[in-house]
Amino acid sequence: MEEKNAADGSEQVVIFEEKITKVNGEVAIKRYQRGKFLGKGGFAKCYEATNLETKKVLAAKIIAKSSLTKNRARQKLISEIKIHKSLQNTNIVQFEHVFEDHENVYILLELCSNQTLNELIKRRKRLTEIEVQCYVAQIINALKYLHASNVIHRDLKLGNLFLNKSMELKLGDFGLATKLEFEGEKKRTICGTPNYIAPEVLDGKVGHSFEVDVWSLGVIIYAMLIGKPPFETPDVKTTYRKIRLNSYTFPEHVLISDAAKNLITRILNLDPVKRPTLDEIMSHPFMNTGGSIPKTLPLSTLACPPSAS
Ligand code: ADP
Repeated sequence: MEEKNAADGSEQVVIFEEKITKVNGEVAIKRYQRGKFLGKGGFAKCYEATNLETKKVLAAKIIAKSSLTKNRARQKLISEIKIHKSLQNTNIVQFEHVFEDHENVYILLELCSNQTLNELIKRRKRLTEIEVQCYVAQIINALKYLHASNVIHRDLKLGNLFLNKSMELKLGDFGLATKLEFEGEKKRTICGTPNYIAPEVLDGKVGHSFEVDVWSLGVIIYAMLIGKPPFETPDVKTTYRKIRLNSYTFPEHVLISDAAKNLITRILNLDPVKRPTLDEIMSHPFMNTGGSIPKTLPLSTLACPPSAS
């Protein structure tokens, strides 16, 4: 990565380059200009990046190689790239390209310029049922594709649900995803994000499968309607205890429909085999209100609820 000062010396222009050596030995160079800072993850810093040849604007996840000294971190990144690269769906952040230089690994992704549902809920406090139905339909579309590809996401949460400039929902961050290699395979690694983690993941002995994503979807639906996740407490241990006991309530001051409560209650079942399937969620009365669910929501809903028309 090269940092240059602009002609007037005011602003810093950062360019990163991909060197491609062809079979005949010639070297082709693709240049990207780093733009706005988008956010920071565990290992990565994410920026807007413009391909200077095509002018296409993407999101670049930049991971310093110096942060990948532990074998585990390297393996995790390799697995994230391998899984994400293989996926293509309207509701999954499109993986565009990956390359490296001596300093960094660069992952180029479809840009989601309207942030995540986490920022949306912080701004709006909670969403209306029609908005939740619209987002749930898109999450289920992504999950049906993912599960049909034998991939479990394992870290579904508001912060991993991105919105692009057209307000399409895109599931991202495959850092904890796993691909099952045979029918009925169970995973035992304890992973996920405390508030969203399924009870069978906490009990590492029993093993877990696709149903953990359904559990997290239940937590997401609750959080979108109520404004905070159902098992949230000030400390992780208490949150885990509440998850194991399935201890949550619907606050009286927030009005939500019986259909919404019924769907959440069915999904947040301690027994993974008793949870509804993705198809069953789509045909549940909450998702089948008679009125049609919009494919996307207007940009105005980033700040205010949609008008009830
Ligand atoms: P994590 O450590 O949670 O996996 P990431 O490294 O994936 O986080 O991303 C860090 C931050 O970068 C995100 O929280 C988000 O703000 C931003 N980001 C990641 N991917 C995109 C994208 N495709 N479009 C826009 N912003 C993104």
